[in-house]
Amino acid sequence: MGLRLYNTMGGKLEDFKPLGDPVRIYTCGLTVQSEPHVGHIRAAMVRDTLMRWLGHLGYQVVALENFTDVDDKIIEKQKEQNKDWRMIAQDNIDTYLWACDRLNIERATFYPRASQHIQEIIDLVARLIEKGFAYEKKGDVYFRVRKFPDYGKLSKKTIDELMSGARIAPTESKDDPLDFALWKAAKPGEPYWLSPWGRGRPGWHIECSAMSMRYLGETFDIHTGGEDLIFPHHENELAQSLAATGKPFARFWMHNGWVTLTGEKMSKSTGHYSPIKEVLEKYSANVIRMFMLKTHYRKQLAYDDERLDEARAALTTIKTYLDNAANIFREIGKTSEPMMLDSFTEAMNDDLNTSKALSIIYDLIRKGHETDDVNIAASVEYYMILLGFVKESSAPGEPCADVMTVLSEVRKRLHKEGKRELLNEIAGDCVDIMESKGSSGVRTIVIDLLMAIRSKLRKEKNYELADYIRQRLLDNNIIVDDQSGGSTFRSGAV
Ligand SMILES: [Zn+2]
Repeated sequence: MGLRLYNTMGGKLEDFKPLGDPVRIYTCGLTVQSEPHVGHIRAAMVRDTLMRWLGHLGYQVVALENFTDVDDKIIEKQKEQNKDWRMIAQDNIDTYLWACDRLNIERATFYPRASQHIQEIIDLVARLIEKGFAYEKKGDVYFRVRKFPDYGKLSKKTIDELMSGARIAPTESKDDPLDFALWKAAKPGEPYWLSPWGRGRPGWHIECSAMSMRYLGETFDIHTGGEDLIFPHHENELAQSLAATGKPFARFWMHNGWVTLTGEKMSKSTGHYSPIKEVLEKYSANVIRMFMLKTHYRKQLAYDDERLDEARAALTTIKTYLDNAANIFREIGKTSEPMMLDSFTEAMNDDLNTSKALSIIYDLIRKGHETDDVNIAASVEYYMILLGFVKESSAPGEPCADVMTVLSEVRKRLHKEGKRELLNEIAGDCVDIMESKGSSGVRTIVIDLLMAIRSKLRKEKNYELADYIRQRLLDNNIIVDDQSGGSTFRSGAV
């Protein structure tokens, strides 16, 4: 069985066959009026899992993820914060990309922004007017929904249902309550661009049609995004794209379930959310990934500390097994090769069932404890990497991002507390440790350095920062033991 994906259009699993080479993917990304939260990261991680699995199957992928950097909400923020909308957008984009990198989320090929594609948007709106699907009223341009017979097909809504909730706001001059804005006339003080309809800016939906067509062509393979975008955003995107080109738009529509916090949907507009920056201070990239992949992407995901602690424990089981296996193989001098189990491939081919794939990894570990099959540990490690986990290892040259981050956080805090002398001593310690342990690998050196800083802090009775280092090392599976003669560390902690 090859890859099958659930297509929201039609509501069933379908065989995935690419339209061409490379496979082309469009993801509706962040509206950048405020900081990214766990819900945004889940959508990015679904794209990441999809890209990784397609790559494993041998496909080349081009992926686009947009930033909606000009819309009503950002303009609102500009007024509220008295800060230029471009600065607000850039700050939030920076945080988002920083978090994605920390989480080992593969970057999209391009991150186009609405404000940098105004000409494409204007051209598309003009094309829709020319074809009779759109009309201008007092500088606004609207899409004429009733002119498009398939409207509602993606979200499974009928025109009658939609009519019952539709209203025309006093500021709008559209012909029909169902019509939606493609272009909005600028109000005083708002950012604007010159257009055939006067000074204005794009509506939200049109940018995704214009940017996907610009980079992926009029028809492409997969459109992804959160399920809250199905209506109206994706329904409108689909209608205006089909109306303009007369050609199919996205072959597959994949939607991830939303993330809840205390039973309610995480949302920037209600302020009910957990910023990813704060979550990353408490949990490592692998723990957050484990928390997300344990649940199938189409299901809702409840965010709470207990679930993340469970994910941490699950990850520790895998890591402990791999560490032990590595020690045993080193002792007996055996090398191992990963084997690709059909069951793992089937789970991932079944609409990216990461939850099932992880259960296969656990079955393998159980088997690994019972036998001396050297290929099992290699397979577990290989599958974890396929799922995007960062390899945690103390070998020279291996990634040490997590402990490096702890070190940089500690340095920042010392700077803030004005501890110049201690910072100078740390620089000296770093040279000493490098000289004496240069062959131990970067990760070990960084941990040694953190231990040296911690012992100085304890001497100064700065227990708060010393405890902070101990906790952050624990987050990275390193236990610190304090004895009368000094402190030591060991790995493999929960
Ligand atoms: Zn979009």
